[in-house]
Amino acid sequence: MGLIVQKYGGSSVADAPAIKRVAKRIAETRRAGHDVVVVVSAMGDTTDELIDLANAITPMPPAREMDILLTAGERISMSLLAMAIANLGVSAQSFTGQQAGVITDEAHGRARILEVRADRITQALADGHVAIVAGFQGVNPTTNDVTTLGRGGSDTTAVALAAALGAEVCEIYTDVDGVFSADPRIVPTARKLDRVTYEEMLDLAASGAKVLMLRCVEFARRYHVPLHVRSSFSGREGTLVTDPVEGEGQMEQPIISGVAHDPSEAKVTVVGVPDVPGTAASVFEAVAAAGVNVDMIVQNVSAAQTGLTDISFTLPSADGPKATAALQAVKEQLGYESLQYDDQIGKLSLIGAGMKSHPGVSAKLFGALRDAGINIEMISTSEIRVSVITRADQLEDAVRAVHTAFGLDAEEQEAIVYGGTGR
Ligand code: ADP
Ligand code: ASP
Ligand code: MG
Repeated sequence: MGLIVQKYGGSSVADAPAIKRVAKRIAETRRAGHDVVVVVSAMGDTTDELIDLANAITPMPPAREMDILLTAGERISMSLLAMAIANLGVSAQSFTGQQAGVITDEAHGRARILEVRADRITQALADGHVAIVAGFQGVNPTTNDVTTLGRGGSDTTAVALAAALGAEVCEIYTDVDGVFSADPRIVPTARKLDRVTYEEMLDLAASGAKVLMLRCVEFARRYHVPLHVRSSFSGREGTLVTDPVEGEGQMEQPIISGVAHDPSEAKVTVVGVPDVPGTAASVFEAVAAAGVNVDMIVQNVSAAQTGLTDISFTLPSADGPKATAALQAVKEQLGYESLQYDDQIGKLSLIGAGMKSHPGVSAKLFGALRDAGINIEMISTSEIRVSVITRADQLEDAVRAVHTAFGLDAEEQEAIVYGGTGR
């Protein structure tokens, strides 16, 4: 029997009984004859609590110290889980990211995995142990400092290990039964998807469906690691995330696979910039130099009398202060009138590979929002996605209205949220 990588998220190991429950599942997999590598997240909301604690000490915690602090969360869960498994008579050893050979670049708080030198894990497996690896963390070989991969990063640790070890599947255990047509926390009638392609999952994850971290999906697609997203609280089959299946025609493809929402963006408007060549370049050069990624961009038609225009863009609200400071620093040079900042926005995205070949998807989306009395502030589209910006307090209503309008509601409620606080 082959190697299986299992990843357990924070809500699956929130307290001692949960850790014991998860240990049972791991022991069963091992007893069935598989080699098992487990990647574990910090217990419950530990990571958020550690961040709150640091912010209570200082408003700007140094990135290096922040990473050392946050990696402590996963050390706690990995060692407790190893103890719980040993208690069941199955031998287990836990490893930090560094010990497991997760090599990253130097970018504290958002480090990228460069390589996995998994010799110690391979050895542990050869010695008959279940290997438990702390998710979300690695080490930079130049500085020898520990790094973290960004929020939700344990998913990426799991896929990286699965790719490096040639696992037959990477199982992502969480607090819902799989990937749904919308977040089960806000759409109780959401439907479980039996299968989604990497391509669709990339768009869902990029648009706010945090059930999988975006980078883990990129990784899985590049190395063809099949993902199975499922609940650690039930025995149900979850969702398979894979390459498209050969021979599956466009006709069988659903037009829409899901509705994602993201309340974490903000909107910046540069008001009254001269409408001349090079303005947009200067605006976005300043923002890029500050290390900020922008998402949607809209430029208004300039008023003929003034020759001035407005440029709006969205960005993660965590980057708002950096972006506005960078634009304020070039105010004279750009010659704009003022800067507006709005973090009370929400983004809704409709995703489906089938929309490539079906006209009218945008029209139906806008119609559903109109009927729900929801105003659209910005729009962007790609081949398999349409996204709109709404007011933040209307976002959840918008998701439910669009989900219903596209006929995605399940006849019987199947979306169960087993745990977690949704934080
Ligand atoms: P974990 O702690 O296991 O990593 P996360 O909180 O990161 O769990 O991700 C699981 C959560 O993702 C679910 O509880 C759900 O609220 C949210 N979610 C958002 N969109 C979706 C979706 N389309 N399908 C399933 N879950 C989703
Ligand atoms: N504990 C980290 C976080 O909360 C990593 C993870 O859970 O995947 O973001
Ligand atoms: Mg997660």
